Parts: sequence; C-alpha cells; structure tokens
Amino acid sequence: MSELPPARGFSAGNFGLKLLRGVRVVVRTISIRRVTVFRLTLTRSFSKMDLSHLVTIGLWPAKRAPLSGADLDYFAQHGVDKTIADLIEQLAKQKPADPYKFIAEAASKLAKSGGGAQETAPKAEAKPKAEPKAEVKAEPKAKAEAKAPKVDSRAESRAAAAPSAGNGENDARIGEVGTAIRELKEKLKKDGVSSKDINDNADVKNLVAELQALKAGGGSGAPAAAAPKAAPKDTAAPKEKAKKAPKTTEVVAAKQPAKGGGMDVKKADDVPEWYAQVIMKSELIEQYPVKGCFILRPWAYKIWESIQGWLDCEIKKMGVDNCYFPMFIPKCYMDKESEHLADFAPELAMVTKIGDRDIDEPVAIRPTSETAMYAAFSNWVQSHRDLPVKCNQWCSVVRWEVKQTTPFLRTREFLWQEGHTAYADKAGAEKEVLQILELYARVYEDLLAVPVVRGTKTKAETFPGADYTMTVENFIPATGRAIQGATSHHLGQNFSKMFDITFQDPADPTGKKMEFAFQNSWGMTQRTIGVMIMVHGDDRGLVLPPRIAGIQVVIVPVGIKASSTDEEKAELATVCMEHYMALSQAGLRVKLDDDTTNSPGWRFNHWEMKGVPLRIELGPMDLKKGEFVMAKRNVVDPKAGKSTGKLATLVAEVKQTLEDIHSEMYQKALDERAPRLVSVDEWKDFSPQLNQGRLVLVPFCGEPDCEEVIKNMTKEEAQGDEEVEGGLRMGAKSLCVPHEEKYNLKCPTKCINPACKCTTVKKRVLFGRSY
Ligand SMILES: [Zn+2]
Repeated sequence: MSELPPARGFSAGNFGLKLLRGVRVVVRTISIRRVTVFRLTLTRSFSKMDLSHLVTIGLWPAKRAPLSGADLDYFAQHGVDKTIADLIEQLAKQKPADPYKFIAEAASKLAKSGGGAQETAPKAEAKPKAEPKAEVKAEPKAKAEAKAPKVDSRAESRAAAAPSAGNGENDARIGEVGTAIRELKEKLKKDGVSSKDINDNADVKNLVAELQALKAGGGSGAPAAAAPKAAPKDTAAPKEKAKKAPKTTEVVAAKQPAKGGGMDVKKADDVPEWYAQVIMKSELIEQYPVKGCFILRPWAYKIWESIQGWLDCEIKKMGVDNCYFPMFIPKCYMDKESEHLADFAPELAMVTKIGDRDIDEPVAIRPTSETAMYAAFSNWVQSHRDLPVKCNQWCSVVRWEVKQTTPFLRTREFLWQEGHTAYADKAGAEKEVLQILELYARVYEDLLAVPVVRGTKTKAETFPGADYTMTVENFIPATGRAIQGATSHHLGQNFSKMFDITFQDPADPTGKKMEFAFQNSWGMTQRTIGVMIMVHGDDRGLVLPPRIAGIQVVIVPVGIKASSTDEEKAELATVCMEHYMALSQAGLRVKLDDDTTNSPGWRFNHWEMKGVPLRIELGPMDLKKGEFVMAKRNVVDPKAGKSTGKLATLVAEVKQTLEDIHSEMYQKALDERAPRLVSVDEWKDFSPQLNQGRLVLVPFCGEPDCEEVIKNMTKEEAQGDEEVEGGLRMGAKSLCVPHEEKYNLKCPTKCINPACKCTTVKKRVLFGRSY
C-alpha cells in the first residue's frame, strides 16, 4: 500500500497540521477494499487525552478497491484532499472561536452537497459525531500497518519497564482503531452493504488485524504474528477469496486438535520431569549450552520484573538507593576476607586467562558483593554523618554449582538483588534486618501467594561472616521439601573491622575515638519464581498468581459456529474489543486472543498451560444475556472454576475475581502445608515424619555439632526413595528457628538428639529435607 500524497495544507510527514494555538488537525485514512474512510480529527495538543475535545468529521467512501497509486490519482481528480485542505485553509483563515463547531458545520454542509469523492459508492452521510472519539495518532494507515510488529515490541518493553503502568499511547491507538471499526461498519450498513458483505469486507478484517497487533503489545509473551501476517494477505485478497475467508478459518480451526498445551506427566507422578515440562512448555525457560545456565524467556522475566518492581519500590521507601558494582572481585579483596569468601571458594568462578595468555592477577566473578562494596564503603564513611549507607544492586551472581542444577532453583548464574547497609548504631541495623525480612515474606505471601515461615538460621546455617541470618522458608508440598526463600543478615561489625568502615564516635569529647559501623546484607533471588511454580503448578501446567502474571486476564471469544450470522460475529468482536480496552484502561494486564487460526479449545489450553489466572469467555449467547463467563485457572475442576458475570460490571467483577484467586491460591498452599508441619518431641518420631514428606518442629539446642549428628542420623534413616542425585541419601537440616510463637507450642527442654546433653532448650527449630 502506498501512502497518500501530502494534501495541500498538510505536512507530508504526519498528515497533521497545527491549526491554531494548541489545536491540531490530524487526518487519517482507513483505506482499503471497498471504502476509503477519510477522517479528519481535531485534537487539542495540550490535552491529547481529553477525548471530549475530539471532533470527527467526514467519512467519504471513495472507491471499492484497495488503496493504490490509482487511488491517489483518483483522490486528486475528485478533490478529496482538496476538500479537506480547503476546510483547513478556511479554519486557518477565519480562526473561528469554536473550531470544532466550525468543522462540524462544514462537514454537515459537505455531506449535504455530496462533497468529497463519490463514484461507485452510495452517497455519503458525513455526520458530525456527538460522542467523543479516541485519540488519533498522526500517522497514515499504511505506515502504521507496516510498523505493527515494531509497535508490538516497543509496547512490550514499555510494559516490562513499568509493569503496572498503563500504555497510554497504545491504548489510544487501540481506541482509535476500535472506533474506526464500528464507524466503518455503520457506514457500510447505511450505504446499503449487506451485513454479510460488511463482515467479509477486508477493511474490517484489516482493522481487526491491526488491533491484534496493538493488543499484543498489552503484555503478551506470544508473538502477534497473526496480525502482520493477516493484514497484507487480506488487503491483497480478491473479493471472492475474502468472502470465503471466515468459513475457511472456521473449518481449519475445527480440524485442529484441541491442544495448545498439556503435560505428558502428572505432578504427583514425577515432580522433576513435571517441573522440566512446565517451564519449557509454558515458555519460561530455554535451554542453554552452558551447564547450569538457562535462558529466562520473556514470560519468566515479566514475573521477575513484577517482583523487582514491587520490592524496589518498597526498599526505596526505606531510603535504600540502587547502585552497581563491577562483577569482578580482585584478588586483594579475596585475601582480605578469607573466612567469608572461603565459604564460596568451591563455587568461585575465576577469570585467569585473556585470550591465550594468563593474566597477572586473576579475578573472581562475584558470588556476592560484600567484599567489593565494603572496600568502597570504607572510603565513603568518615563521620557518623555519612551513615547510614544504604545500597542495593540488581544483578546476577555466579556460583559454580557442582550439584544438580534446576532452572530458577539452583543455577550457576542467577538474578538477584543484594542490599548492603551500614549503620552507626546496632539497633538501627537490627531493625532493618527485620524490616527486610518482612518485605521478603510479603513478596511470597502478597505477590506469589506462597506462605512462608519467618525465622532465624541456626549457627550451622548462618551466612559466613554474619552475626545472624534471618530467613523466610518455603515448603514444596509435592516433594515434601523445604526451600530457603530469601535471607537478611546482620553482619555486626565483622566486615567493618575487616574493611575499616569506621567513623568518629560523636559521643567521644576528644573526637578521636573511632567506631566500627554495624552492617547488614540481604538478598532475594529468581528462586522466588521456581518456588511459585513448584507450589502452584498443576497437571495442566503453570498457575500464576494474579499479581505477578504477565497477563492476568485472557479474553477468548467463543460460540462462533458455521451457522453464526456475520452480525453475531461482528458484534462479538466489537464487544470483546471494548472489554479488552476497558480492562486495560483499568490497569489490568489483558490479552484478547481472537486469533481464529486456533480453535477456542486450543487457546484455552495454551493460556492454561502458561498459567494466566483468569480467562473470560464471551459468546453470542452471553452477549444476548449481557453476561460473560469467567474461568479461574487455579481451580482444578473446570466446572467449579467457572462463574458468570454481568457485562455491565465487568471491570469490577474481574478485579474482584483476581483478588479472590490470589486469596484462594494462598489458602490452598497454606492448607497443603498445615498438616505437613508437625511438632515432634522425641527422636523416634523424627525420621518417620520426615520420611512422609513433612517438616518437623523439634526442640533443638542450636549447636552446629549436634546439628551435624541429626543430619547424619536422618540420612541413615532415610527411605530408599529419599535419594538425592547421585544416589546419596538426603539428610534433614535445620531450616530456621521460627519467629512466631505458634510454631513453638509446648516446647520440651530436652534437645531432640538423644545423645545431646542439653536440657535448656527454649525454642522449637524447623527441620526438613530441603533444596
Ligand atoms: Zn543438641
């Protein structure tokens, strides 16, 4: 398709003209097979989104053929552009107080006089529209169409950058195209075109295709290939072919197997295989030829961004600033802090060569950034006025795991955030440790709908170099194993003494006494996503909690049969689009999947596999009743998961349902965990409970040596199927000393280890097999 030549009074580039101060005229052609809709829209550039200030005038049917070079000649011959240019000129000359009224009246006159080009088409009834119109982008149709895929990816990256932010530009454009569809149809109808021909009209289909491309930018991980593919084909299609198109589509759809997703293995039968399938089939993960490293596909990264967006906002409220430190740790830092890095040494990746020559001083790739950051902190902190220092970085770290790696849960490189802070006072630092712990708990509970146990690590499990480590611990019901969710460490003065992070003691009258800063470090990783998959996923695939789902709602038009009238089809498409827009504008991440190359059943499975929390089904019958069907992904029984809503209150009902889904998912996970978290007072019950996939709350003295004994005993008493990779039996380790008193009921004073002499135990400690 070629572009319209610049009409008089228009700039060629954008087909817009600055008319009066703050008022802009935008012309757009929706070209195409039978009718060329030539629209002139006024916008006020200072309030582009104020739809009440938009006036649309003039719909001129031009020619029953795709817009071509011949059309341009046709326009020139028949004065279409001249008509508008004249109007613009008049506007510019007269500068009417109310340009909208002026244009409306002019349009009305034009319509009466048969203005514009009319040859084969019936007489136009250019009517000033009373209702507000969506914003028009100053871009000719042809150009916009060619750009469609790009618009997509831009929109996607925008959505990614700001998960909760709306996509105003895209929405406005969607609104524009949606309006154009309705107007085009009205127009065709008034022109006496039969409803069948209207819906066979390639114009309509083209516009729908454009909408698809735009919509896909609303948060879809799936490519919007359908739109760009369909558009040129339909545009070029001869009339006969276009007429047949809808039927062909239906037949093709009907012939396709109703798949689109589906797992080959049940979660209960083989968790590792199930997990491997879920993450591949739901398009979260792609394999990569470096062992233990995986590609996070957009569908996964969107989840990470949601988590990141929320947490980043929360830590900023606490005064934490983001920064970035180099990924390479120099040898001099490693030497400085032997104990801390020694713990990471077996997993430390070193750069020892550049090209084929050895480098003089090998550098490590950060497994964590304490050493890198604290050397800098030392320079930054001179007086107590320089404190607190609160830094965080979002980055990846490398720990060259020798154990079996599992995407998200245990990988050699992983994404995380690491917060590092330094305080003048211990109390301030300790308060922060708990605040951060609570944020981590909320990531799991409020975003991922996964319950956690908040607690403190035993000595044996404390982070190397920390005074103490606080943790949130998750439970995976399918395997009966625990998994550490995130940790917040109080480092005391251990690192500040090593890295000389000191300040003058303000209380000292001589001003000479130096104090060491009190420090914390805290981190949360992409493991969050793995835990969420493990806890919520089911035999149909991924189940995403609404607050982090890349797409929260998918709308699937249903009930279109070979016998459906074109009117029914058109109405359904329009209503689906309206609701898509309404939900998008309400801030929800929505996908309208009206790609008829796949059957509705295929699409159901596809989005279920990908875990989209809520599906809206809309069919002709629903429209008649003013209703829609909602299907909740989190409910296993398809019938029980369905409910009916009223179209009039769609947005409110969808929002409420998403909240309900979150609560239900959380409650379900909690209910599954509750009977698996048992108090055990004597050793004889320890392994039997553990071997049934439970976590045990036991009286424990807290000593590392004693813990080692327990670990070994549980390893010996493990059942045959409790093997980790390599045929080794897995023992239980301590997970945490829970903070909440409800986990500490009737705690015996004797340590659970029969050989342990300790009889002054105060707290139950959570033990379990863990990832
Ligand atoms: Zn003990």
